[in-house]
Amino acid sequence: MKIGVLALQGDFREHIRILKKLGAEAVEVRLPAELKGLDGLIIPGGESTTINKMMRAYGFPEEVKKFARKGSPVFGTCAGLIVLAGKIDDHKSGQLNLIDVDVKRNAYGRQVDSREADVTLDFAGTKPYRAVFIRAPQIRKAGAGVKSLARYEGKTVLARQKNILICSFHPELTEDTRIHQYFLDMIPKKA
Ligand code: GLN
Repeated sequence: MKIGVLALQGDFREHIRILKKLGAEAVEVRLPAELKGLDGLIIPGGESTTINKMMRAYGFPEEVKKFARKGSPVFGTCAGLIVLAGKIDDHKSGQLNLIDVDVKRNAYGRQVDSREADVTLDFAGTKPYRAVFIRAPQIRKAGAGVKSLARYEGKTVLARQKNILICSFHPELTEDTRIHQYFLDMIPKKA
């Protein structure tokens, strides 16, 4: 199983570390041609305006959309969620528009930009998951096809629509591997 992590900006190294810990092959992706042969793609946290701009400069948007339309799983964390979303801050369309959610950037607190909180993962028993929020986007609305997988303060913070997974916090910054394992389990088994 070979997973690519978009390595234009942000914390791609941390995702790679967790994927390797789970026994997956993980590679940095810097050019659209490197999507070839991947079983899944992660768009990491960082700064969505920078990631969006760099993606356009390298010709990524169309290629990632094609990759997702083939059914390959794509996982966006924090800024990566913003890149994948349908609508940002009530008006702008997301760069990839691959998941039917409206998000608000930097929605969790002004004075404190970061926080940690326990959430329950619907797919992984009752043991709390410690979620790290860093200037996190908030999912304000989700279409009927979007399944909520975890919530914090009444709002969905982890969600899936078919082969697209999004998370408003940073699962790559904790030692708990359950969310990355869930993503790996989304990859269709080869015959
Ligand atoms: N606030 C960032 C943005 O809007 C996202 C923060 C993050 O990825 N930690 O892009």
